[in-house]
Amino acid sequence: MTTLERLKSYLKEIEKNDKKGNKINAFLQLNLRAIEEAKKIDEKIKKGNSGKLAGKIIAIKANINVNGMNASCASKTLENYKSPYDATVIKKIREEDGLIIGMTNMDEFACGWSGETSAFGATNNPKALGFVSGGSSSGSCASVSAKMCDMALGSDTGGSIRVPASHCGVVGLKPSYGSVSRYGLIDMSMSLDQIGPITKSVSDAALLFEIINGKDEKDAVSLGSRTNLKEIEKVPKNIKVGILEFKVKDERIQKLIDKKVEEAKNKYGWKIQKIKIDYIDLAIATYFPIVYVEFFSATRKFDGRRYGKRIEEVCGEEVLRRILGGSEISKAEQAGRYYYLALKARKLIEEEIRKAFKKVDCIISPTVPRLPHKIGEKISIGEMFQYDALTCPINLAGNCAISIPAGEINRIPVGMQIICDKFQEQKLFQIARSFEKV
Ligand code: GLN
Repeated sequence: MTTLERLKSYLKEIEKNDKKGNKINAFLQLNLRAIEEAKKIDEKIKKGNSGKLAGKIIAIKANINVNGMNASCASKTLENYKSPYDATVIKKIREEDGLIIGMTNMDEFACGWSGETSAFGATNNPKALGFVSGGSSSGSCASVSAKMCDMALGSDTGGSIRVPASHCGVVGLKPSYGSVSRYGLIDMSMSLDQIGPITKSVSDAALLFEIINGKDEKDAVSLGSRTNLKEIEKVPKNIKVGILEFKVKDERIQKLIDKKVEEAKNKYGWKIQKIKIDYIDLAIATYFPIVYVEFFSATRKFDGRRYGKRIEEVCGEEVLRRILGGSEISKAEQAGRYYYLALKARKLIEEEIRKAFKKVDCIISPTVPRLPHKIGEKISIGEMFQYDALTCPINLAGNCAISIPAGEINRIPVGMQIICDKFQEQKLFQIARSFEKV
């Protein structure tokens, strides 16, 4: 099929089930130039001079700038903001002839766990209708899961790619901090945010990662990470797998993961051991003060003069909580109490994770220690925090991690998280691909 034909069939599916039918609500805006762009890509393919992403149809989270599109961050604040430029990741996708189909729904400014804080309605879970899709990259994961595109970009600050990938039954990668340029990503928490691919397979995740990663002069902390697509299929030998010791309340989830690891061990002869990471139970309490302070600072530009509306006047409850919290914590007299303590704890967690990788090649855990709740179901903020308990430590440390489908419980997808050392994406892909084949 040509790109144009495939685009048309995706658009048909969106027309049928995004706002109507199953009401997935994955998209906030479609690219009106997509048809025209698809034709151009098809011509290039015919001539044999197309890029590595030719034929791939890609959805973009609404906090990434795509020239001419609306990077609303699913907020009333930026409801009418039209991006004047392409983020580095978008520039790279275009250079390789990837086709952008539209902007996806998300938790407002990426603050959330379930996709429900979007100002434009929650995203339905395509694999388990009526349940949340997970957040904050809700629409990106749902659009891939609902077969409305080939792949998507999300952003992950504490789990926002991996959590919804887990609930929607797709693959989601949080690259090492610094692998992928953040230029053109609207910050949530700049020392934690990373853009990453959401796909139907590990090899597609590796493909998209290979394109978007790399040092960028527009992002001073970017370094890039070397991968080699041709080697992804190789099953790595002598792998030492660490199973994270963590009390997962829902035992069915841990059992599913253990079974998967056991199967891989039998098939590949990998060595399995339990691994303990001290202070991991402090991760959530460490993560939030940092996020609050950085988010408060990042949102000061939304004062209603340059971009859209004044954020405090139109934002939802979760965003407001973080702005007020961040403003309080940032006060000089509070500094030692929360923020500096959090920075210290962050160092401890990072150090423990660094030490763990002296013993093992990868660490495995459930991506999310619980199943998703029903859309609209009231759950406490304490319960909400649990969604990120196993993903946010990885952002604090800066490592790379991927969520891949591990099975289902009551027909709800459950994801397995594989974590590798910093800038070891290549090894991570190989291990994940090996699991996919089990
Ligand atoms: N759920 C986490 C939060 O609300 C993570 C969000 C994210 O990764 N953007 O902060």
